[in-house]
Amino acid sequence: MHSIEQIYIDGQFVQPQGDEWFDLYNPATAEVIGRVRLADARDAKDAVRAAHRAFPAFSRTSKAQRIAWLTKLHAAVLARVDRLAAATTEEYGAPANRAMWGARYAAESFLTAAQTLEAYSFTRRIASAEVTMEPVGVAALITPWNANAGFICNKLATAIAAGCTVVIKPSEMSAIQTQIVTEALHEAGLPPGVFNIVTGRGDTVGAELSTNPHIAKVSFTGSTAVGKSIVRASADTMKRVTLELGGKSPTLILDDADLDTAVPLAVKAGFENSGQACIAGTRILVPENRLQDTVRLAKDAVAAVKVGHLQDADSAIGPMVSQRQYERVQSYIRRGVEEGATLVIGGEGHPDGLGGYYVKPTVFANVTNDMTIAREEIFGPVLSILTYRTEEEAIEIANDTVYGLQAYVISSDLERARAVASRLEAGRVIINGAPHEPLAPFGGFKQSGIGREYGVFGLEAFLETKAVLGALENVPQ
Ligand code: NAD
Repeated sequence: MHSIEQIYIDGQFVQPQGDEWFDLYNPATAEVIGRVRLADARDAKDAVRAAHRAFPAFSRTSKAQRIAWLTKLHAAVLARVDRLAAATTEEYGAPANRAMWGARYAAESFLTAAQTLEAYSFTRRIASAEVTMEPVGVAALITPWNANAGFICNKLATAIAAGCTVVIKPSEMSAIQTQIVTEALHEAGLPPGVFNIVTGRGDTVGAELSTNPHIAKVSFTGSTAVGKSIVRASADTMKRVTLELGGKSPTLILDDADLDTAVPLAVKAGFENSGQACIAGTRILVPENRLQDTVRLAKDAVAAVKVGHLQDADSAIGPMVSQRQYERVQSYIRRGVEEGATLVIGGEGHPDGLGGYYVKPTVFANVTNDMTIAREEIFGPVLSILTYRTEEEAIEIANDTVYGLQAYVISSDLERARAVASRLEAGRVIINGAPHEPLAPFGGFKQSGIGREYGVFGLEAFLETKAVLGALENVPQ
């Protein structure tokens, strides 16, 4: 049994003042595997004070110094990828391969931030002005459970590159991963107060961070509903916000696509991270006259997906993270049937031979874009196949959503795919299954969020812009 009793403030592991204990589960078995003592608003205040004290010195550190720290942080997390991956499987239910990818991504994010920082110029000249980019202040970093370690590391790496000190509020459901990451970060030897980690509930610790006057910026990844509440709560102190929220991403299979490769690719994009992914391509759009073939191929592709057996190299889908998430997915499957969609494969209940919070990977056909399963983020392996008559209509359906995080286009004609991509309302468009690019901006249009992470755009989200006039020589008076 894991017992996690400490948080991290001002360079030290300390016992929280909060005294609530929260159970941790193995989602594959639904068994309790440990417990974590949660921080409360008092702890959050202490953490903010520590970050506030550390800010003046840290914000003036040199680029070279920050790159050196980022390099140490990378090494410290990299040294723990095996433990981190194992914890991600145990506590979150990720298949081992996916868990290892996530752990490596967490470590790599420090190097990616260092690379961005190395090439970035904090000062530029614009007409007669000298324009400098300055650290925004103390940042609150709030993460969800579906890739907790990766979000902690990527947000922290960017904040450090910018010269900001931080208070991190990880998901309370990911405390084992957080503990391993915290040990690694501690080992890197940053000055006390530069980063502080307070695991607690959203409505206590998160709420304090959203209103505390010493927090200048909130970088949040999570649901759209909570994102909106953070905007409201932070308005009084005019915090800068970066919000990475939900999605209902479309996958447009164009009529020239080879269905034999397109459909498995679309299914893969939908089942990303067991379907618990903000970027999951959950609405598959196909030409009306190719529906039958698509349904057949989708059924085959899903039947071939390995669910469970998380240690197997080809395991692709794990359980949902919690009982609540399991029930949420069940209710959407029920809703799909009630609203008249055709169940192609999957359905309610557990897959054969699996318990815990496993759900059946499910595909619906004959879905229309007004159905609940096409409009709301399910956050599980449940896909909808919709049809279109013309490319114009495909684009219209794709954009007919409150979300706009990511979109996928599959076509044998790159120019055509690019033309379609240019008309999609999404922060990222993936053509023909292109791999992740950690230096390119990531974030949402519409209710999928505000702002961007990664690369230069991500860095600038932790910076304020200052124009100084009269500072430069050779400017005509
Ligand atoms: P959530 O919004 O419930 O929680 C996210 C975090 O916010 C948690 O740490 C939680 O404790 C905290 N929180 C809750 N209430 C809060 C409050 N009032 N003030 C401040 N913080 C609060 O999300 P979740 O269930 O943990 O994660 C799933 C959601 O995250 C999905 O909607 C998914 O699309 C989204 N997500 C988005 C991205 C992205 O990059 N766009 C990536 C992953 C997940």
